[in-house]
Amino acid sequence: MRNVRFRDPSGEVRRGEWTGDDGAEIHAYPDHGSRIRLEDDRYDVDEVDVLPPCEPSKIVCVGLNYADHAAETDSEIPDRPILFLKPPSAVAAHGDTLELLPGKERIDYEAELGVVIGERCRNVAADEAEEVVSGFTCVNDVSNRDDQRVETNWVRGKAFDDSAPIGPVIATPEEVPRDAAVRCRVNGEVRQDSSRAEFIFSIRELVEEITTYMTLEPGDIISTGTPEGVGPLEDGDTVEVEVEGVGTLRNEVHIP
Ligand code: MN
Repeated sequence: MRNVRFRDPSGEVRRGEWTGDDGAEIHAYPDHGSRIRLEDDRYDVDEVDVLPPCEPSKIVCVGLNYADHAAETDSEIPDRPILFLKPPSAVAAHGDTLELLPGKERIDYEAELGVVIGERCRNVAADEAEEVVSGFTCVNDVSNRDDQRVETNWVRGKAFDDSAPIGPVIATPEEVPRDAAVRCRVNGEVRQDSSRAEFIFSIRELVEEITTYMTLEPGDIISTGTPEGVGPLEDGDTVEVEVEGVGTLRNEVHIP
């Protein structure tokens, strides 16, 4: 099942199931509040505002998790995952125009598989990690290389507004194959094309390592790193991140 959060034409925030791919339909879940709905509420994706599928208190990102990307950045394969954070203010939804920083030489796309946490957890052993994962989404780890290369903690480089588009849905784990494709397209051209099977650190290892240090909350995301093929975004580009089994996260780029 692929779950979407959206604002319906009356302005109400609701959840539903996303069926089909492009030109998909949303079947809203019935409300359990005071309002009684007699109709079977179905919407075309185009007639609603798709919202971020969850509201993370933080996104924990993995720096290098594909050997081919480590090679293209001349980095050693690390002994343990490199971690950094994106705050809630960085989140953008499917369909949002990304308002990126002016005056930078290079702001890159990075296609990533996002692991969505389903329950508050700490000190989760690798072999219990699947119990705390509610599903998977697409993440674009938009990265400002100008500042990233001259600072240690990547706050300007990674945590700026609109640097974390997520969505369009949360797919339940069984929807996403073990070797799910992870792709990026810019203006329809494939720039990254790899697979979950290429991870250096598995999702279970990442959950164990991260929860050794911090509590994860429902809706938090672990973004599992990007494969080879990163490159710059330009004003007017359309950037897409596709994770097989999840779907395609699409955004336009505006750089003033
Ligand atoms: Mn990344």
